[in-house]
Amino acid sequence: MAKRDYYEVLGVARTAGESEIKKAYRRVAMKYHPDRNPEDPDAEIKFKEATEAYEVLSDSGKRSAYDQFGHAAVDGSGGGFGAQGAGASFSDIFGDVFGDIFGGGRRGGPARGADLRYDLELSLEDAAQGTTARIRVPTLANCSTCDGSGARKGTAPILCGTCQGSGQIRRSQGFFAVQQTCPACRGRGRVISDPCEQCHGHGRVEESRTLSVKVPPGVDTGDRIRLAGEGQAGPNGGPAGDLYVQVVVKEHPIFQRDGADLYCEVPISFVDAALGGELEVPTLTGRVNLKIPPETQTGRLFRLRGKGIVPVRGGGPGDLLCRVVVETPVNLSAAQKELLHAFRDSLQGGGHSPRETSWFDAAKKFFEGFTR
Ligand SMILES: [Zn+2]
Ligand SMILES: [Zn+2]
Repeated sequence: MAKRDYYEVLGVARTAGESEIKKAYRRVAMKYHPDRNPEDPDAEIKFKEATEAYEVLSDSGKRSAYDQFGHAAVDGSGGGFGAQGAGASFSDIFGDVFGDIFGGGRRGGPARGADLRYDLELSLEDAAQGTTARIRVPTLANCSTCDGSGARKGTAPILCGTCQGSGQIRRSQGFFAVQQTCPACRGRGRVISDPCEQCHGHGRVEESRTLSVKVPPGVDTGDRIRLAGEGQAGPNGGPAGDLYVQVVVKEHPIFQRDGADLYCEVPISFVDAALGGELEVPTLTGRVNLKIPPETQTGRLFRLRGKGIVPVRGGGPGDLLCRVVVETPVNLSAAQKELLHAFRDSLQGGGHSPRETSWFDAAKKFFEGFTR
């Protein structure tokens, strides 16, 4: 089945802003949410389609890739890299957009813990080759003393006397009876008479954990690695959220990265540019020789095939593109200047600078246009 255009799915213009996209997603997702359409299997497909569209269009990096190259650019078809699957960030988006709508009814009971985000700075080398990073993550963990219950060891929370354990109370308001979250137990149905001394009845404690993150080779800035269950512990014994490790690749002193390709600038003297020669250039996997042919002009790009990066989503390695920049010599001695003067005289009328000559010809014609 051909995939529909993401903008069409959300019903927004290609120029739509961030908040417009969020609003549109909210509208479409509310309409097709599976909880609201239990009898309609089509609704779930439409809901997933909208979620996928939102996942891409709400991420500026993915959005620009999609704008340029379409679905192929953002399809998470690369094997093994779980971070990009549509399901991975589902709860993320769900929590973000719907937290206030669907979360309301479950207040007080066990709930899923919050997702956490950790920015992991990597060198270009580590990003290209993959690495195992040790990170320290501050988080809320289940209190081990009370096992998350919040009650002192050996005791248990007791039934709430105000709501008799239902978590809800009914209040009359004119002719109507209004159902309300019980203020005494905040909807839990149980109260703690003897709080745990470790967590003061919260059931969760602040903790800093050291985790080991396996970073697959080829990741780039903006990629996310999901560590399931390593987010915050859920309130009232709920399941833990996930930890998203967001990759940030640091600037490199020599290479600039563009997707799978690497760029670097290689300065050479005008003598080497004129006579040609061979020079050593660095790559991520060691040095290679680069042949500079005679009469090489400044700005010329040399492509070293396969010396780029193997992207994390699969595909062959990119290239290393070396831009040769001819450097004007500085700190010349009187004797060297003498040589250059003699050299300049020897160039007269020899057709050694075709680019300069054609530029001056064009400029001359341009000036003639003025005086006529
Ligand atoms: Zn405790
Ligand atoms: Zn209560």
